[in-house]
Amino acid sequence: MVAHSPGRVNLIGDHTDYNEGLALPMAVDLGTTVTFVPDGGERVVLRSGTEPEPADVDLHVPLDPGLLRAIEPSWARYVAAIVSTVRPSSGGSGTVDSTLPIGAGLSSSAALEVATALALGCESEPMALARTCQRAEQAATGVPTGIMDQLVVSAARQGCALLIDFADLSMRHVEMPPDVEVVVVHSGETRALERSAYAERRAECDAAAHRLGPLGRLDPHVALAIPDALLRRRARHVVTECARVRGFTGALRSGDLIGAGRLMSESHRSLARDFEVSTPGLDALVEWLEGRPGVFGARVTGAGFGGCVVALTEPGALDLRAVRTPAWRVRAARGAHLVSGGH
Ligand code: ADP
Ligand code: MG
Repeated sequence: MVAHSPGRVNLIGDHTDYNEGLALPMAVDLGTTVTFVPDGGERVVLRSGTEPEPADVDLHVPLDPGLLRAIEPSWARYVAAIVSTVRPSSGGSGTVDSTLPIGAGLSSSAALEVATALALGCESEPMALARTCQRAEQAATGVPTGIMDQLVVSAARQGCALLIDFADLSMRHVEMPPDVEVVVVHSGETRALERSAYAERRAECDAAAHRLGPLGRLDPHVALAIPDALLRRRARHVVTECARVRGFTGALRSGDLIGAGRLMSESHRSLARDFEVSTPGLDALVEWLEGRPGVFGARVTGAGFGGCVVALTEPGALDLRAVRTPAWRVRAARGAHLVSGGH
């Protein structure tokens, strides 16, 4: 079977998923294609165009995080975790080809998981597929990551971003206006502190939520009255970010691109000052983008501490050759699907 999964960029709503808040990610027209041919054997062997060593995995590998994280090469951990959650009936071999940058924040990991799961015969109902792949990512990495990436790359509709409410995982497709462009620019910084800081921020949010309930649903007045200054700033980011997701969605619907861009820039400042997940390099890149003619707004996207910035612009406004780091114009793509071999 041949399956394709897009990557994704989060337009607005970061560090809201594990707080029962809101986010508006968009699947992109860069992605990963996995081809798998069953052979009746006991091993799943995949070769990736971006990796020197194949992933060669026992068909009966257990879903044991300790065991999975000892597997080499390291990308085979994702394949093994998918094999252990999907449990295909037969081994076989195949290939992984991707047009996504790997490790840049466009969710090449979710694309690899979801495309591999589909190619191995996993059912394709988006919510079940996303849950299976989230479980696999957590087991493969040991990080308690949320379900946003897997959900949007599974469920997206072409031409639309996906509004996700993490309180109940309800979703709404939000059409992208035709007269706008989404540009993703790499900051040139690898996401060095990302994992430890992510765990730290989660713990801080959990500490506040323990007393007050999920931060994504908190009354702003309650958030602003938290006595501990650090927790108050973290809660203020989550509460105001959810309001910005709502405002941004409304602005897209009414074609208010200036308003949408302003909310993106406010989101960046909140992530920088209140949530403290930006870097001087990311701040400088956002500021530079905001100063270009035809740019409505820009913000760091993803967990932070490096990775990518996303900008909303007039079509063709940014000359990507003027950007010194890798950059991509992306369009809202459909979610993961079988390309051939399905029923
Ligand atoms: P992101 O998801 O933002 O790209 P991650 O660090 O979450 O970054 O995931 C990147 C990892 O996923 C890579 O280090 C590699 O192990 C795996 N991966 C993703 N895409 C591929 C691919 N096409 N081939 C092999 N491994 C891949
Ligand atoms: Mg990832």
